[in-house]
Order: sequence, then structure tokens, then C-alpha cells
Amino acid sequence: MDLFYLNVWAFSTPIMDILWMLWSIPAVIAVEETLMDSTTATAELGWTVYPVSGSSDNSWEEVSGYDEHMNTIRTYQVCNVFDSNQNNWVRTKYIRRRGAQRIHVEMKFSVRDCSSIPNVPGSCKETFNLYYYESDSDTATRTSPAWMENPWIKVDTIAADESFSQDYGGCMSLIAVRVFYRKCPRIITNGALFQETLSGAESTSLVAARGVCIPNAEEVDVPIKLYCNGDGEWMVPIGRCMCKAGNEAVENGTVCRACPSGFFKPTQGDEACMQCPINSRTTSEGAINCVCRNGYYRTDSDPLQMPCTTVPSAPQAVISSVNETSVMLEWMPPRDSGGREDVVYNIICKSCGGGRGGCTRCGDNVKFLPRQLGLTESRVYISDLLAHTQYTFEVQAVNGVSDQSPYSPQYASVNITTNQAAPSTVSIMHQVSRTVDSITLSWSQPDQPNGVILDYELQYYEKDQSEYNSTTVRSQTNTAVIRGLKSGSIYVFQVRARTVAGFGRYSGKLYFQTMTEEEYNTSIQEKLPLIIGSAAAGLVFLIALVVIIIVCNRRRGFDRGDSEYTDKLQHYTSGHMSPGMKIYIDPFTYEDPNEAVREFAKEIDISCVKIEQVIGAGEFGEVCSGNLKLPGKREMFVAIKTLKSGYTEKQRRDFLSEASIMGQFDHPNVIHLEGVVTKSSPVMIVTEFMENGSLDTFLRQNDGQFTVIQLVGMLRGIASGMKYLADMNYVHRDLAARNILVNSNLVCKVSDFGLSRFLEDDTSDPTYTSALGGKIPIRWTAPEAIQYRKFTSASDVWSYGIVMWEVMSYGERPYWDMTNQDVINAIEQDYRLPPPMDCPSALHQLMLDCWQKDRNNRPKFSQIVNNLDKMIRNPNTLKAMTPLSTGVHLPLLDRSIPDFSTFSTVDEWLDAIKMGQYKENFASSDFSTFDVVSQMTMDDILRVGVTLAGHQKKILNSVQMMRAQMNQIQSVEV
Ligand code: AMP
Repeated sequence: MDLFYLNVWAFSTPIMDILWMLWSIPAVIAVEETLMDSTTATAELGWTVYPVSGSSDNSWEEVSGYDEHMNTIRTYQVCNVFDSNQNNWVRTKYIRRRGAQRIHVEMKFSVRDCSSIPNVPGSCKETFNLYYYESDSDTATRTSPAWMENPWIKVDTIAADESFSQDYGGCMSLIAVRVFYRKCPRIITNGALFQETLSGAESTSLVAARGVCIPNAEEVDVPIKLYCNGDGEWMVPIGRCMCKAGNEAVENGTVCRACPSGFFKPTQGDEACMQCPINSRTTSEGAINCVCRNGYYRTDSDPLQMPCTTVPSAPQAVISSVNETSVMLEWMPPRDSGGREDVVYNIICKSCGGGRGGCTRCGDNVKFLPRQLGLTESRVYISDLLAHTQYTFEVQAVNGVSDQSPYSPQYASVNITTNQAAPSTVSIMHQVSRTVDSITLSWSQPDQPNGVILDYELQYYEKDQSEYNSTTVRSQTNTAVIRGLKSGSIYVFQVRARTVAGFGRYSGKLYFQTMTEEEYNTSIQEKLPLIIGSAAAGLVFLIALVVIIIVCNRRRGFDRGDSEYTDKLQHYTSGHMSPGMKIYIDPFTYEDPNEAVREFAKEIDISCVKIEQVIGAGEFGEVCSGNLKLPGKREMFVAIKTLKSGYTEKQRRDFLSEASIMGQFDHPNVIHLEGVVTKSSPVMIVTEFMENGSLDTFLRQNDGQFTVIQLVGMLRGIASGMKYLADMNYVHRDLAARNILVNSNLVCKVSDFGLSRFLEDDTSDPTYTSALGGKIPIRWTAPEAIQYRKFTSASDVWSYGIVMWEVMSYGERPYWDMTNQDVINAIEQDYRLPPPMDCPSALHQLMLDCWQKDRNNRPKFSQIVNNLDKMIRNPNTLKAMTPLSTGVHLPLLDRSIPDFSTFSTVDEWLDAIKMGQYKENFASSDFSTFDVVSQMTMDDILRVGVTLAGHQKKILNSVQMMRAQMNQIQSVEV
């Protein structure tokens, strides 16, 4: 229903003065919308009255008047008190509802007090009634709706609440009528906008309104609602919106404004934008965070309100205290922590001077206490370093933002050199074999040899006996056979290593038991079938025979000449080794050499091998470094020799033969084979990695940098490896410094067991000169091997002498630039290489022994090892640099020192050796003839006034050379 009329039905009423307000509840935020207001009428109101009459006495009459502000208003008055039963009606015009559900009517009126009217004859009432009538259109006429209660709806009977006894002329005056409705206004509250909403029909009704977040705000709780009550008041707020990150609420929460530049707000919420912390800035308005200035950073866990920070400066004042092979480092915190409190320290360890120049990172074996990285205290204890080694430690200061900085951490470094230290403990020992009265043990080299291991000491005693009754035995290798034990008894064993620094600590105790007689008899019976039919023959002979037969049978299968292995056959039959002793087996004695590979080399799955870089060129393809990770084992650094593609079957066989040979060896001074890759391409041989590469290059790169003891230590290692190979009946044939590899601990290992370079068709390498039946490295090879291919361990000893010379001269080429033929001739005429500069005479003497013409007069490798050990134990024996031996060997001319006989005076000779500045010194001390000069000693040279050590050496060498040349001349004359 859209429209209605109001009808005021006034009875003849006592007059009552002034007004009374109806239904008006003052609302705080309610808005009133007026539908009709009699006071604003500018013309006649023209309401309909009933009954119709000409005078105000008997009907409602429209009268002009003034309100309290003296504005003209239109009023209605009536005073028909003299008729009984009178009804006086006045009906407003049609009022549009305009969607309102609830209408308010406000009336100002006055009613006369009945008692103030004298002699009231009819009816006097002091109240009146208000009615309304609803209609869809303005259809009212003078007679309709009817002037009676029905069809009108009564609103109420109204009385005034105050009365005055004043006569205003009418009994009742209707001074003002205002009809209005209430609505809830458009409002922004709780971050949301609510549109204007009309109140409901009842005073208790609540009209729900949905709110919409204001720009840059987001809902926090949904739904977002307000209720508009009957009085046009918003109430019961539900849900809310809040300003988004980067925006703050302003203007009483009605606007979300973007944070101005230099301010940020990280999250949605009521809080205000915050100023950017130190070292940060915004890039635009409405920032949700501030970005750090260049060179400043924040970690993921740093609060955005925290200033941006930077990397710390270097630690200060690092001090080190070295104790044998450990060092304590302490330092002061960095001057600038970068503004953070999470500074920790990392230690970078580099060992220097031992490698191919420069420094290399330390291996995993170095221990750091409490740890290497992330140290919170400014102190670390580093142990298990190598003895006699120079290290550089970098103490890095890092904090939470260091990894973001493109600059590597700031560090302070300290250089230290470790001292001499005994070897570390042998950690693994196991039983190789046992009999009723012997046990054969083998053990690993200590992880930290801290020098060249001279030998091992094995201590043992019967388990039931006291430790004080123990026996000790020495072993030069890491195996030992302990004989003379009681059968079926348990023995306790401990082993320790020894270097020049002394003994290491004993290993833990291990228990091994000898065989009982019964066990022994059982094991003999198992072997019995072998002996049947050969009652008279000894077991040793029988085994030798079996080997010969096998070898003879298999020989048919390969294509090498007889002479190459007849030597080995002789050894196999010589029977000087005890049964069970391992003997090298030439892979070419196998009918199918692949079988030798299978037997001696472990197959490695290619997925375990990771190639990293090419480090050299081998006979058959590239040599690479890489990693090997075998299941259940620690990843290790390895060298990988590859066979280049396009190989022939023969090349593959020759390539792999090296692995079949290497795989038979197990000695700390022989390169260790890890395995082969043959089931995928390329075919590979994987060996332990030797950080310092081949010995000749290594020495050339480190010319003059080692002590004599260090050089002798290297030589001792090579001799020990060669002794092992000789004991295995393996003849190397190509022992040379280029075929020795050096690891980071300066341990030298014999390598290069390839055979192919001896083959005749390869002419690319001038080191190997073709000779009848194969190629030979002339300068390293014994004369009998050159002449009639008599390769034996004794010819290897000759080569070893040359290696000694190479080592002591830091990689000089043997016989310098002489031609191979000159070398062969010189050797034939008993000329031998002279001692290299600063070479102790004891060592040169050992070289000369190795170069004995008669191979039977040459020392065995075991003697060489013993000899070198003696020198290491008594370093004084290495002090003597006596003049050249005048024995049977003639020294060769050292090409670097001019021949004195080409000069006529001592002065000319001094000029030639670039020592001309001492001419006067020589002359004034009467050293003016070659005869006198050739007898000069170091004391003489000092006395003449040569004070510089380098010059003393130079002159002494030249004098020695002069003496040697004189001897030569004399012997020629003889
Ligand atoms: P080869 O074919 O054995 O003469 O090896 C060629 C070069 O590769 C050698 O001269 C070394 O420089 C290098 N090389 C070979 N084996 C190893 C290894 N086990 N560790 C490090 N380098 C090696």
C-alpha cells in the first residue's frame, strides 16, 4: 500500500493549551524523511472537513497564524461545544508513503480545558483521535471514505499533558502536523560502506544491510553486516574490513590510504604505516616493506622493522699456537659485526708448499674442535695435520647475511708450520694366514704417517701370559709372519709405525689363534689329492711344476716372444719362496687375457664413477681425476685412465693388462688399483689419486725446496715399493721418475705397469728407443738389458740408481743433452753420472753401486731400503759431500760446469764459472795454479774470503769437477 490519509477526529474537546509530541524518539544517527509538513505550506492546506460549516464554531476551519518564530503557518481550529454528540473530522490530503514501512506523525495542538468554558451545554472533551486510511491512489472525495470510525484505522486517542486556562479563540487548534519516516543513513564503519537503509515496519524490526569494503580494504570476518532498527539506527555490527598491507586507515577509519614514501605497512590491519628502518628505503608509495640499501641485507627471519644489516669485517688478531701436528687458533671478534648478533666463524685450511705450487685445501682427515664451520666461540683446535708442513688458515667471519653478499667473507689468515710428530695409530690389522706355529698378519698404513715410515714394530704375547713377556719384531712392510708360536694358542698382537720422529702409539690389541694339530691335519688332507702320484716330489716342487704346465699350456694363446717371460718362468721354478707367498702372474700367460682382468681387477659400475677433469695424457687416452663412490664406502678421489674410442681388440687388451698387473699388488709404495670399468664405454682403469702427479715434474716444480731427509724419504719409499715388486717376481723395466707418482703426503708410489710402450711399432716417444725386440728407455736401462734384453730385478736396480740421480738433482734429465748412442758408449767405457749438486756422497755411492756393470754386484732392493733407513736414522752420514769417488767408475763431465782444461789460467777459469770477482782473493792466497786449486777444500774457499754460501758451493762444485777431470785425464794417460 503506497498512500494514506490521516484523519484527525476531534470531539468537542475542552481547550488545552500547547503541544504534545508523539512517537518521536531522538535517534543518534537516524535520518528523518518528511512526507508532509503543514508548517511549510505556502498556500492553503485545503484539507477536507466534516461536517462542512461556515463558522469555526461548528466545524474545522483553516486559519492563518504565527509560530513561535513568527513564521506564518496554517492551522485548523474547531470549537463546537454546544452541540451534543458532535463529531468533527479533518482529513489531510493524500500522503505518499515513498517505500517507508513505518510512519511517524508529529502534531502540535492545543485543547481548551473544559472547565475554562463557562456553561458548557453539550459535550466537552479534552482528547481527540487520530486515524489513517490506506489507499493505492488519491481516490478520496467529500463523502468517501466515510466519516465514521470504520473504515479508518485508529492510531490513538490523544490528550494533552499540560493545560492552560487561556482562551485562544478555538476549543482545539491543530497548529502543525508533520508526517515522516526514519531510515539508517549511508555509513562507513568497520572499514565497510553500508548504503542507506529504510527501517522496518515494527519498532522491533531489524533490517540487515550488507557492507562492502572500502577501497584498499579487505574483509577480515565475513559476512560484513549491520542491522537497521525501527528507529533508523544502525546496530549489531558483524564482520569487518581492514586496510590492506601498504595502506593505513585515516579520516576516522573511513579511508585506506597508501603509505607515503619512506613508510611501510607489512600486513593488513588497523595499525599505522611505519617509518622504514635504518639502511632501507621504499621504492614507491603503498610499500609493504622497505628494501635494503645496496650492500645491506636481511635474512628470511629478520623482522621487517629491523634495520638492514651487512657482512661482518674480518676477525682480528688471530694467534696460533702449534703443538706438533695440531694448532690452537684464537682471535678477536670483528670490529664491525655488520649490525647483527649472529656472527660465527668458519675455518678454511690450506696446506702449502707440498703441492704442485700454491696451496691446496686440506683433506677430510684434518680434525677441528669443536667444529670447522659455524664456530660461535673465537677459538678452534685443529689436529691431525701433517708433520713438517706449512699451512694457511683463514678465519672467516660470517653472519646471517653473508651468503647474500657477492663478496666472499672477510677473513684473517695465519700461516703456521707444523712440527715433527710420530705417526698415528695403525687402525686395521688382520690375519692373512696361519699354521700350527705361525700367524701371518697384515695391517694398514697409519692415516697420518707424519713422514716416511721406516718400519713397523709388532708386539705379541700369549694371551694367558703377562704383557711383560711380550716379544717384539720389526717389519719393513705392513705384513709380518710370526713363527715359533705354540699350536692352538691365542696370541695378543699390537703394532706401531716408526718414522724419523719416533714410534707412534700401539694399535689396539687384537687376538689371533694358531692352528691346532687337528685343524692342520684336516687342512693337509684337503690338499692330499694334489700330491697323489708324486710321492717322492716335495710340495713346493709340485706347485712349481703345475705352474710351468699351466704357463706352457697358456702360452699358445698370446702373441709375445719367448724372451719376454722366460725370466719369469725361471723364477716360478726357482722355489726360493715359501708356499703361499704371492707371485706375480703375467696376464699374458692367460689364454684369454680378459680372464686375468676378471681375476685381478674388480669391475666397477660406471654409475659409481664421476669424472671431473682431464689431468694428463696416457698411452691409450686421457687421464682424468674424479670421484669414486662404491656402495657402503666413503667417496674417494681417484685417477681414471680411459681408453679412447676406436680401439682395436689388441689395444683394449694391452690397456687392460696394466690393470691385471696392478690389481695383483698391494703395497703402500705401489699405486693401488680400485678397479676397472669394462662393461660400458669408455673402458676405464680407476686408481687411487696422487695429488702431486708424476715425480719428475713435481721435483722440477719444487726445485731445491726439500731437505735431504725428505728426498731420501721419497727414495726409500720407491725402493720399498720396488722391493715388494721384486719379491713378487715382477720386473718393472721402466722405472723412472716419470713413472713414480707422488701423493699429498709426499708418499711416492711406483706406477705405470703398461707394457705397450715397449712394443716396436710405436715411435712417437723419443724416451723409448727401438732396440731389437722392442723399445727401451736407454738412459734408465742397464747395459745388459739394452744389449741382450736381460731384464731382471737387477736391471730395475740400475734404473733405480738413475731415479736416485733424478731425485737428488730435482728432475734433471739424466746425461743431459747427450745422445742415446753417446750414453751407451759412455756407460760401456765405465763413465757414470756425477753427484748432483748438494748430493751427499753416501747417496752418490749408492747410485754408483746400482750402476755396477756386473748385475750380480748391484745391491738388492732390500739392501737399498736398509741402506737408506740407516741414513735416515743417522742423518750425519748425509752431511759429507766428499770429492768424487776415485773408484772404478769414471764420473761423466757435468755439462753445466766448464772443463778447466780449456782455460790457460785460474783467472780465466774463474771468469768462466762467473766467479771473476774472486780473482784477487785467489791470487793473493797463492791459489794460482790448477794443481793447487784442484785440492781446495771448503775451509780453503772460506779462507780465501768467499763468504756467500751460493758462491762457496759454486766454487766447490767447480773445484770438484776440476779434480774429476784431472783424474779422467790421468786415467786416459795411464
Ligand atoms: P700414465 O699413462 O700412467 O703415464 O699417466 C699419464 C699422466 O697422468 C701421468 O704423468 C700423471 O701426470 C697422470 N696420472 C696418472 N695416474 C695418476 C694418478 N693415479 N694420480 C694422479 N695423476 C695421475
